[in-house]
Amino acid sequence: MAKLEMELTDEQGELLEARLNRSFDKGNEASLICRKIEEVATTAELENIAREYRFCDKIDLFGFDVYIARRVLRVLLNALVRFPKLRGRLNYVGSYQNYEAFLSKMGEGDMGFVREVGLQNIFDENMARTFGRFGVELCKELWADDMMSLSAYVSMGGLCNGLLFDSVGRQDFAYLNALSAIRKNEQIGFHPKGCDSFESVVYHEIGHMVDEMCFFSFSEEGTAFLAQYSSEEIAQGLSRYATASPQECVAEAIAEVFSSPSPRKIATEIYEKVQNCT
Ligand SMILES: [Zn+2]
Repeated sequence: MAKLEMELTDEQGELLEARLNRSFDKGNEASLICRKIEEVATTAELENIAREYRFCDKIDLFGFDVYIARRVLRVLLNALVRFPKLRGRLNYVGSYQNYEAFLSKMGEGDMGFVREVGLQNIFDENMARTFGRFGVELCKELWADDMMSLSAYVSMGGLCNGLLFDSVGRQDFAYLNALSAIRKNEQIGFHPKGCDSFESVVYHEIGHMVDEMCFFSFSEEGTAFLAQYSSEEIAQGLSRYATASPQECVAEAIAEVFSSPSPRKIATEIYEKVQNCT
């Protein structure tokens, strides 16, 4: 894995801390925002809604089918309402390709791109170069490992995290193919009950972001909490994929609570525990 060699001064560290602690404060306007999302007809208008209500630092829905873009915004809104502090980690939302291109521009020391994600007080030109180049290298590794599906989360310590999508047309063969695999995986218990949609894949990725807000699955408390379930219980009562690691277990639990009309016991217990620590 690519490693980032970059040290922050105390002041930069404080600025990053403040950045991570930002909160979504438009939760009381959620139904109005929701209506606006339904009413508009283009991806450009959807981007404007995300900007107006500050869903994230940067959104680029170029190449997205409007039908998919609308679903992305609904998921973001729903997640931000339930976890307002998720805002601090939602830096870049867009396609894989555009994210990589964005980081590559940063790697050229282009301060315009640094400002677009609000990093101008933390990064000087040199840091932008180091960070951007590192990001491009990381993307290439992730893409090469074939870890990408409909959606993925690239963690960059809250500096320029990416919530990414295969810039999708809903009639794309790749999209339909991925969707049919998800449905099958839900039926056979590889993924949790109710997690059979585009949204559930995004909620799973958001689950990783939420987990990172308090490093629950990495903490002693979190590990001890998760250890109360045997892997058999997790495979039966959540999903088989959840047995892969504590991180996947938390992401699957959060995905089930967001996606299922009647989330089961293990998913609910983990979700509530994580919610309490965020
Ligand atoms: Zn995952």
